[in-house]
Amino acid sequence: MNVLYSPRYLVDIGLHVFPTRKYQLVHAGLLADGVIAEQDVIEPQTAAWDDLALVHTREYLAKIRDGTLTSDDIAQLELPWSPEMVEGFRVMVGGTIEAARLAVEHRSIVGHIGGGLHHAFPNHGEGFCPFNDVAIAIRVLQRNGVQRVAVVDLDVHHGNGTAFIFESDSSVFTFSMHQQYNYPMWKPRGSLDIGLMDGIGDADYHRQLEEALPAVMASNPECLFYLAGADPYEQDQLGGLGLTLDGLRARDRIVIDQARRNGLPMVIVLAGGYARRVEDTVAVHIATMKEAAR
Ligand SMILES: [Zn+2]
Repeated sequence: MNVLYSPRYLVDIGLHVFPTRKYQLVHAGLLADGVIAEQDVIEPQTAAWDDLALVHTREYLAKIRDGTLTSDDIAQLELPWSPEMVEGFRVMVGGTIEAARLAVEHRSIVGHIGGGLHHAFPNHGEGFCPFNDVAIAIRVLQRNGVQRVAVVDLDVHHGNGTAFIFESDSSVFTFSMHQQYNYPMWKPRGSLDIGLMDGIGDADYHRQLEEALPAVMASNPECLFYLAGADPYEQDQLGGLGLTLDGLRARDRIVIDQARRNGLPMVIVLAGGYARRVEDTVAVHIATMKEAAR
């Protein structure tokens, strides 16, 4: 399996609940476990500002490029601004774009050890997400002739930015299954939203997921984006669901098998993960990629 990764994803954001070192740890773990070999790893190009502008406003892009975000902008983004931060996330957007291009070209599953920045809106960044990489990659695919795309977002937090971007666009089916009473407070309507009650466990989660996926497939996507967030984990600091490590892996299998059975190109991005022990977050992400490489 091809995976996209860059060491530039390791951005210094100081003491923070978001462990930017997880990317490096997942990459190293996948190599150590023999899930991928060095030659499977592709280092992405930095996404062009014009590609970012397929989703984001020119005003916002100028502010984040030039470092003229207001203190309110920074508070909403919840990341300290630096040229290195902006560059790191631009490369990460490039990773999702390249993963999508490869998945469609080879009709295969491609993993991105990064991405899933689903809280970014056209005119602002939010919740550790400066740019909406999945939305941008979808627009790039559509520019290249792909018509219908679907997003399966299983991060514990609602994919508010993605839902907003495609709210009135019937060519993109957005499915989010998340914890209802958690950030973000305002949840723009996606094509299919399932807001879960606090603390639900593996069996209930799997059942609701299996019931929802036929609606995603019925939208006839030509490519599927899977946000395999690690934060539905019972030990997550920013999540309130009760999934176990095995339960998360079974979740991944349900989604990946669905794409595989239908011969659907698929892009897997990591999205969130804030377990008390970073090793647990890394283990969830590694297990996702193992399922994909199976
Ligand atoms: Zn999240």
